[in-house]
Amino acid sequence: MSATIKKAVKAQKTPKIKQTKMLINNKWVDPIEGGAFETYNPATGEVIAKVGAAGAKDVNLAVTAARNALEKGPWARMDAADRGKLLFKLADLIDANAEELAQLETYNCGKTITDSRGDLIGTANSLRYYAGWADKIEGRTVPVRGNFLSYTLRQPVGVVGQIIPWNFPLFMLAWKWGPALACGNTVVMKPAEQTPLTALRVGELAIEAGFPAGVINLVNGFGETTGDAMVVHPGIDKIAFTGHVETAKIIQKRAADTLKRTTFELGGKSPNVVFADCDMEQAVAGAFHAIYFHCGQCCTAGSRLFIEQKIHKEFVERLAAKAKQRKVGNPLDEATEQGPQVSQEQLDKILRYVDIGEREGARLVTGGSRKGNKGYFVEPTIFDGVRDSMTIAKDEIFGPVVSVLPFKDMGEVIERANNTNYGLAAAIWTKNIDKAHNYARAIKAGTIWVNCYHVVDTTTPFGGFKMSGQGRENGETALEHYTELKTVTVNLG
Ligand code: ADP
Repeated sequence: MSATIKKAVKAQKTPKIKQTKMLINNKWVDPIEGGAFETYNPATGEVIAKVGAAGAKDVNLAVTAARNALEKGPWARMDAADRGKLLFKLADLIDANAEELAQLETYNCGKTITDSRGDLIGTANSLRYYAGWADKIEGRTVPVRGNFLSYTLRQPVGVVGQIIPWNFPLFMLAWKWGPALACGNTVVMKPAEQTPLTALRVGELAIEAGFPAGVINLVNGFGETTGDAMVVHPGIDKIAFTGHVETAKIIQKRAADTLKRTTFELGGKSPNVVFADCDMEQAVAGAFHAIYFHCGQCCTAGSRLFIEQKIHKEFVERLAAKAKQRKVGNPLDEATEQGPQVSQEQLDKILRYVDIGEREGARLVTGGSRKGNKGYFVEPTIFDGVRDSMTIAKDEIFGPVVSVLPFKDMGEVIERANNTNYGLAAAIWTKNIDKAHNYARAIKAGTIWVNCYHVVDTTTPFGGFKMSGQGRENGETALEHYTELKTVTVNLG
């Protein structure tokens, strides 16, 4: 282990863990069936808590609570504006406890404290955005033929099962709770098994905010057990899932028997295209951020870096110089720029891909190894001379590993950028306005960035083309996925 990491890990403070049970009907309860599982600090690999694991019977209790709240409780009769008030209150409580939550997020997820603080701001913003929507979800009057009055109502889908990943635990919670609750649904959420802790703390804040019993329920546990019990439960009307493509395929099949609604936000292998007419300084910094933000553990990571041949050599040199300087270490230390990967499993997977990249003939420019022997740290890694057919150019690695692919012209790069089953995000770096807009139009992806990267805002739709997802989160669009549309027709005589 390097001296810096050793020192940093020693210096780490221990955030308090206040809650490890399940939240059902506004009560903190132990599982009756599922037992418990261990959760870790990725910076050290040490167990930091045992968390209640929900079995099928526990999930059933949560669904029953959510169903009752949906149909019988005060939530069912509450004015839309008051649902908004509760979301505003929760956002305020999150702000008031933001530093505690950020530290806990870093402790369990490994993201740098700076990134966790950023996530907390985004979490509160997202809840506020949807709080504002609560009393603005409207139907229409429709000019039908004949002497009838026809109008539409937007009503809640019902009990919503929400299954989220470990890379943005609280941010993903907000993206899911905000629109679901603004629309009047009730929620059973399963956080990722790697990062169960911060959602539980926010569950405490939701009770404090005044959400009625059963509106928000939290069940932790593994995907194949707790998650699957949600997916097959006939009392859950919709599953909103963020995670891997392969998991989504399983969920879609398992949800078929109950024909429940599903929305998916999945992975990516996003093309990040740099033209010679870019602002080089800005593009190097942007490409760096695109891949290394949160250790490459973002579904939008700019993992296929296409560089125009004319500037290819210089660009890679500048990128490598930055990668070598990156401060990798204790994520609770404010000077740290890159923390650990989330788990041993992810660490092993990334190192396997590095090995495959080398074996398939890509040139390792920098990085490629684990950093230290405690915790799950990986060096920022660059592969140059990557060909489109190589595994590292095709698979989502979910780590700090970028594949550099040189290109000659626009037509070629658009074809190659689109040659993937994914379609979540893409970026272009150029000062030429025609190129930028032509690229934006031609790329099959849900988000296109021009001279920027990872700019995601709650107000704009987010989601994927092709295998990167179904439906959209954020913005007004998300409300459609959390409501059923009803037509009412009245005979006017
Ligand atoms: P990762 O490999 O990064 O954990 P997953 O797609 O497996 O990504 O996990 C995302 C979320 O999906 C997690 O909360 C996980 O527990 C859950 N999950 C995994 N498998 C299933 C499944 N078969 N059914 C329902 N949820 C699942």
